[in-house]
Amino acid sequence: TQHIENAIQQKKPTFSVEILPPTKGNNIQHIFDTLDPLVEFNPAFIDVTYHREEFVYKKHPNGLLERKSVRKRPGTVAICAAIQNHYKVDAIPHIICGGFDKEDTENALIELNFLGIDNLLVLRGDPVKSESTFMAEPNGHRYASELLEQIANLNKGKYLDDELENSSKTDFCIGVAGYPEKHFEAPNLNIDLNYLKKKVDLGAEYIVTQMFFDNKRFFDFVDKCRKIGIEVPIIPGLKPITTQSQITALPKTFHVDLPDELADELVKAKDNKEVKEIGTEWTINQSKELIENGIPLIHYYTMSKSDVVVRVLRGVM
Ligand code: FAD
Repeated sequence: TQHIENAIQQKKPTFSVEILPPTKGNNIQHIFDTLDPLVEFNPAFIDVTYHREEFVYKKHPNGLLERKSVRKRPGTVAICAAIQNHYKVDAIPHIICGGFDKEDTENALIELNFLGIDNLLVLRGDPVKSESTFMAEPNGHRYASELLEQIANLNKGKYLDDELENSSKTDFCIGVAGYPEKHFEAPNLNIDLNYLKKKVDLGAEYIVTQMFFDNKRFFDFVDKCRKIGIEVPIIPGLKPITTQSQITALPKTFHVDLPDELADELVKAKDNKEVKEIGTEWTINQSKELIENGIPLIHYYTMSKSDVVVRVLRGVM
């Protein structure tokens, strides 16, 4: 596998995609069916999201507590290995703090390393439904930067067990998340950016942004990053809006704004079909403007539906 940094330095504009593991009950063919039409356009890499384990507890009539998993999308690591085997395209698993202590993390990293998965997107993760704020595991990591430090240590051959002899070095290339409209918990954008800089100073080699619908927000974000000394590539993340429900759900879930011009058009749309037309066209125009401004790589959030992103790629690449 190649380091993502190299993929970004290509001369021709290129792209990457993010997919989700399929919901439990589907097989790997589901992933290949989603990816086949996208791989034809030669993505630089494919990200696979991570969905952590979560349980609900119910009192059984015999008085004991019954534990039930409500995790819907397991399989991230195996999907990445399958993608690399099947398409020979670099796959990037998202790796999170939530639900992992440091030992779990080390074991997961060893497994990834053995599988030849060398690129990671390192994240904190969101709170699970039963938590109001994010809770780290005992002996786990509270922030993406702490997880990143553990990975950077492993790259130097430093495992949790100090006494390990002849330990081999891993070679993970680490990406992190950035938020042009600020992370929802941060008091303001500048404070958030200082924590982003910390992630870069600790070894992050590139940044992938949260989705945004107004390129100006992205350009301002990049300017601010450069001013505080963040020099790594910043990859813009785009998501075509495809349904009427997303018009309110995306801003609510991802803490992003829709510019007036787009929002006005979308609320006037009669049905999902019209929304999809407007959303696709908007993403095509956003992509074209980013490329005209010298952005070498655009990351598309597919939410596991390839048809719209394929239409965008036809219009852009
Ligand atoms: P961090 O960088 O740790 O930041 C979290 C918050 O803490 C921010 O407000 C930051 O300003 C603040 N902060 C950071 N360091 C400190 C410090 N030392 N002291 C005080 N405050 C600090 N979630 C998943 O569960 N699975 C996924 O697959 C997934 N993929 C994603 C992909 C992308 C591209 C993006 C943008 C997000 C993704 N998420 C995913 C969501 C992500 O986990 C959440 O947005 C999460 O709330 C924050 O993650 P982070 O890595 O940005 O956190």
